[in-house]
Amino acid sequence: MEAKIEELKSHVKGRIITPSDTEYDETRKIYNGMIDKHPGIILKCKDKEDVIQAVNFGRKNNLEVSIRSGGHSGAGLALCEDGLVIDLSEMKEIHVDPENRTAVIAPGNMLKEIDAATHKYGLALPSGIIGTTGIGGITLGGGIGYLSRKGGLTIDNLLEAEVVLATGELVTANKDENPDLFWALRGGGGNFGVVVSFTFNLLPVKNVYAGPMFWPLEKAEEAMKFYDKTLREASNDLYGFFAFLIVPPGDPFPKELHMKNVCGVVWNYTGPIDKAEEVFRPIREFGPPILDFVSEIPMPALNTMFDDLYPSGLQWYWKAHFINELSEESIRVNIEYGSKIPTFHSTTHLYPIDGAVHEVAPGETAWANRGARWSQVIVGVSPEADDAEEITTWAKDYYKALNPYSAGGAYVNFMMEEAEGRVKASYGTNFERLGKIKKKYDPQNFFHINQNIEPCD
Ligand SMILES: Cc1cc2nc3c(=O)[nH]c(=O)nc-3n(C[C@H](O)[C@H](O)[C@H](O)COP(=O)(O)OP(=O)(O)OC[C@H]3O[C@@H](n4cnc5c(N)ncnc54)[C@H](O)[C@@H]3O)c2cc1C
Repeated sequence: MEAKIEELKSHVKGRIITPSDTEYDETRKIYNGMIDKHPGIILKCKDKEDVIQAVNFGRKNNLEVSIRSGGHSGAGLALCEDGLVIDLSEMKEIHVDPENRTAVIAPGNMLKEIDAATHKYGLALPSGIIGTTGIGGITLGGGIGYLSRKGGLTIDNLLEAEVVLATGELVTANKDENPDLFWALRGGGGNFGVVVSFTFNLLPVKNVYAGPMFWPLEKAEEAMKFYDKTLREASNDLYGFFAFLIVPPGDPFPKELHMKNVCGVVWNYTGPIDKAEEVFRPIREFGPPILDFVSEIPMPALNTMFDDLYPSGLQWYWKAHFINELSEESIRVNIEYGSKIPTFHSTTHLYPIDGAVHEVAPGETAWANRGARWSQVIVGVSPEADDAEEITTWAKDYYKALNPYSAGGAYVNFMMEEAEGRVKASYGTNFERLGKIKKKYDPQNFFHINQNIEPCD
C-alpha cells in the first residue's frame, strides 16, 4: 500500500496523512470527543480534481471510504476505521452573487464562514444554529435552524450541486440535469457521491430581533403551551426553539441563575425591526421571563451565539424524534427528563419545522417529513469522558419515554449509529425511491459510511 500512497501523492495537490505522520492524531480528531477512529489515509483535498483522485483510489483499492466536511456528525461518520477519509475541510471558496441572491459554496466551509460572506450583502442562507458545523453534512441531511420557518430547510434553498460519483465521474445535479440525483441529495445524506460544490438561493436577512428567554422550571407546562400557541398563530417571521437546560455557570448569565434548571425559547424575529417590540409585547407579558436577552443583533451573531459553549472535543450523544404536537402527556415526559438534565451542556431542543418547511410537498425532496412541527433533539454533552455513560443513559431514557409521542423517525443528522429500520422510518414514503436512485448512482454501496440507504430495485 505504501507504494500506492506514494503514487497517489504524485497525483494530488492536497496533503496525505497516514498513522506514521506527527499530525495524524490531530487530523483524525472530529467534533465529538467520544469518537476515536483510526483511518489508514486522510487526504486533505484541495479541489475537485483531488476528490476525483481520492474516489478512484478508494474504489480501485477496495478501501472503506468516508467523507468529511465539517466533522460534526455526532455518530462520527466523517471517519472510517483503516480506510480512506476524503477530507474536504480545506476546500473553502465562497462566491456570493448579490444581484441574483445566490452563492456558490465549496464543501469545506463552516456555517460561520458562509454567514460572514453573505452578511456583507444583507443576505443569509437558512441553515444551522452553531457556526462550526460544516455545510456538507448539514445540507445533505436537510438543514434546520433559525430561518427554517421563514425560508425552509437548507435543501429547500439548494439550486445545484456538483457531485463526484462512485465511478469518479463529476456530474451536475439540478432540476433539469440529473433531476433524480438532485432530488435524492436534498435530504438523502452522503449516500450518492461527494458533493464538491453547492449553489444556494439566499434570503434578504441582515439584522434580526433575537436571543434567549428563560422561565423557571415550575412554569414549564404553561410555557410549553404558551409557546406552542404563539408559534401556531404567528407569521413565518417569528421562530423560536423550545429548550430545557441548566443555565451555564458563567457570563453572560446572571449569577443567581447559574446552574439552575430552567426552560426557555431562543427566538428569532425576521420581520420589520420597528414592529419587533410589538410582536414581543405579549411574549414578554407571559411569565414573566427570568431572563430576556432578546434584542436586535446581526444574523451571524445569532448563528454563533452558542459556539463558545460548545467547542470541539466534548463528549456528545444524541437521540431524536419528529414531533407533531405537544400533548399533555408529551409535555409531562419533557418536564420529567428536562428536570433531570445530567450536565449544564446537555439539553433538549424542539426545532420548529413548520412554516416554509411545510410549503414543500413530502415527495418534492428526499426529506419526507413535511408534516411534523418539530425536530426534537435530546443531547447529552460533557467535557468529561467519565460522564459518557451518564449522558448517554439520560438521552436514551428520555428518547424511549418520548417514543409514544413521536411522529415516527427522526432527522438523520441528529442520529447516532441507530438500530436497523430507523433510517427507513426517517425517510418514510421516500425510502423506496431513494433505494432505487442509490442503485442507479452507487450500485455497490461504495458510499456507505453514512445513515445508509442500501441500493434496491
Ligand atoms: C454542535 C452541533 C450543532 C448542530 N446544529 C445543527 C442545526 O442547527 N441544524 C441542523 O440541521 N443540524 C445541526 N447539527 C447536525 C449536523 O447537521 C450534522 O452533524 C451534519 O452531519 C454536520 O455536517 P458536517 O459537514 O459538519 O459533518 P461531517 O461529519 O463532516 O459529515 C457528516 C456526513 O455527511 C456526509 N457529507 C458531509 N459532507 C459531504 C459532502 N460534501 N458530500 C457528500 N457527503 C457529505 C457524509 O456522509 C458524512 O459522513 C449540529 C451538529 C452539531 C455537532
